[in-house]
Amino acid sequence: MADIIRLLPDHVANQIAAGEVVQRPASVVKELLENAIDAGASAIQLVLKDAGRTLIQVTDNGSGMSETDARLSFERHATSKIGSAEDLFSIHTLGFRGEALASIASVAQVEVRTRREADELGVAILIEGSRFISQTPVNLATGTTFSIKNLFFNIPARRNFLKNDAVEMRHCIEEFERVVLVHPQIEFSLEHNGKVVFHLPASSLRHRIVNVFGAALHPRLVPIGQESDIVVVSGFVGKPEFARKTRGEQYFFVNDRYVKIPYLAHAVESAYQELIPEKSFPSYFIYLQVDPASLDVNIHPTKTEVKMLDEGHIYAILKATVRKSLGEFNLMPSLDFDREAIFDIPEPDPNNPPPQPTIRVNPDYNPFTNPNPGSIPSQHVSFPRGSSPAGWEKLFPSREFDRPSGDVSPTGELLPAEPSAENKVYLPEGSEKPLVQLMGRYLLTTLRNGLLLVDQQRAHERILYERFLSQLQGNQASSQQLLFPLTFYFQPSDAELLKNLMPELRKIGFDIEIAGQNNFALNGLPAGFRETDAEGLLEQLVNDIRQSPGASPESHLIEMAAALARNQAVRNGTLLSADEIKNIFDSLFACNMPHVSPDGRLTLKILTAEDLDKLLK
Ligand code: ADP
Ligand code: MG
Repeated sequence: MADIIRLLPDHVANQIAAGEVVQRPASVVKELLENAIDAGASAIQLVLKDAGRTLIQVTDNGSGMSETDARLSFERHATSKIGSAEDLFSIHTLGFRGEALASIASVAQVEVRTRREADELGVAILIEGSRFISQTPVNLATGTTFSIKNLFFNIPARRNFLKNDAVEMRHCIEEFERVVLVHPQIEFSLEHNGKVVFHLPASSLRHRIVNVFGAALHPRLVPIGQESDIVVVSGFVGKPEFARKTRGEQYFFVNDRYVKIPYLAHAVESAYQELIPEKSFPSYFIYLQVDPASLDVNIHPTKTEVKMLDEGHIYAILKATVRKSLGEFNLMPSLDFDREAIFDIPEPDPNNPPPQPTIRVNPDYNPFTNPNPGSIPSQHVSFPRGSSPAGWEKLFPSREFDRPSGDVSPTGELLPAEPSAENKVYLPEGSEKPLVQLMGRYLLTTLRNGLLLVDQQRAHERILYERFLSQLQGNQASSQQLLFPLTFYFQPSDAELLKNLMPELRKIGFDIEIAGQNNFALNGLPAGFRETDAEGLLEQLVNDIRQSPGASPESHLIEMAAALARNQAVRNGTLLSADEIKNIFDSLFACNMPHVSPDGRLTLKILTAEDLDKLLK
């Protein structure tokens, strides 16, 4: 009887391998982006047509390839990255095994154009379903462009298996996001059907996250960091009050790769225990660096699960690190310097240029010797842009970071200002009640049987929040017309989401209309709303909905009402008139839930006679 075992032809082997590596356009996106990063690129462009079905093109300005390497790169097990099985354990580069390009080329029409800096001419190579078609010299800039056309053109069954464009595009964007979040120092762009979806300049990690997920995220991020022998932790976690009803932005990266580690996700979630309501989920972007030898690399390249030695230790370290950062932030939650850089830049007055900030420190100044450090008023002092909290302000036990205001002694030293500078006491005519504003942030009045203490900003947030909610429930809000309408572009799937929300947005005062395909014009904003915050807010709203498709539109609008209230509430440090104080007291007690701010913090405290007795014992 004849022998029956046959070696599979290469192209068949490649197609079988492709079944594992290339599941959908997004898999190709991932492999090509990672190759471009490995090639040392500083700028990478991704172009898609029809969610990658028709075209996936990645252009980088990295090393480029020689003519021979370009041909070889499509061979199975062709890689410049590992030479022996041992290398697998120490590999730091992204791709491994050298099978991505061979697999991709077996199921698509592929063109590579590449040139190394040292070569005068580059080369263009065409391959179709693993078959070499042509090779020609070309003129091009240093770097490489891979164009993958008509994915699965030769395997109709797989092509039919693809989902609709919105779903496939979502997968592509996900892969793109996972890559760009690890390489903020690299410029990226993503274009789909001729429209720019993302353009991400090289930036800090914080700004990269914000550029991807929207400006509204900016004030919500708390940095984390911890170094130990077994792991280095860095990144950002979301403030508890912004936890979501669905798992949204939860990212782990180990050694610069996106991974899913349910065990460590649990560590993070347990750090939030008691800080967020049950069944809500924190956002996080956490980066772990571990010894590559402590990772189980014997996992498939397309899998995102990973096994780590030391998981138990890392669990404990991670939980403690997140806890600590959230704790520090809780001490001084509301003044966020980075937030100022984005939202609160005052318009410069050309006739009255701001003085150059000078920093003078009195070396003898010791906040502990101040009898009443928490009362040093500060909030009218505006910070130079880009300044960040140094160590010393932590010395102040106040919830908000206070800074000595700008009183300068004759010798030029910065002196703590008069403690009572922002205390106001009013005794309105015809009223026995005094109205007091303390330190520019606490409102105080007498009750029949005690004292009422109110946090002005939180109280105002509560008042506005309920007002916006009632507007959403059908009471028309007033809108303030803009002189120059603001226009926004949203990518098609997001534009759809936004269109569905337009009636609700109008109710709360956003005079929004469609201005051509996927473009929107804002002609008016809710009264008092800052123009500069509008785009971030809409982006955040759409993002919320995209991230949690299951949640009801109402829950998004509730979040929106809270965001608007936060935006418009009077800031701590703003001096209020007697009328304004009275108004806050009156409106607060007209609220359904006067006691807490929309994010669950106390707005008021009543000190009864008994409380006062206890205090004075
Ligand atoms: P791997 O990335 O695992 O090595 P691939 O099949 O993805 O395997 O790529 C094969 C080889 O082709 C790489 O090792 C690299 O040498 C080369 N290569 C791929 N993409 C690029 C690129 N954008 N720039 C330069 N070289 C590249
Ligand atoms: Mg690769």
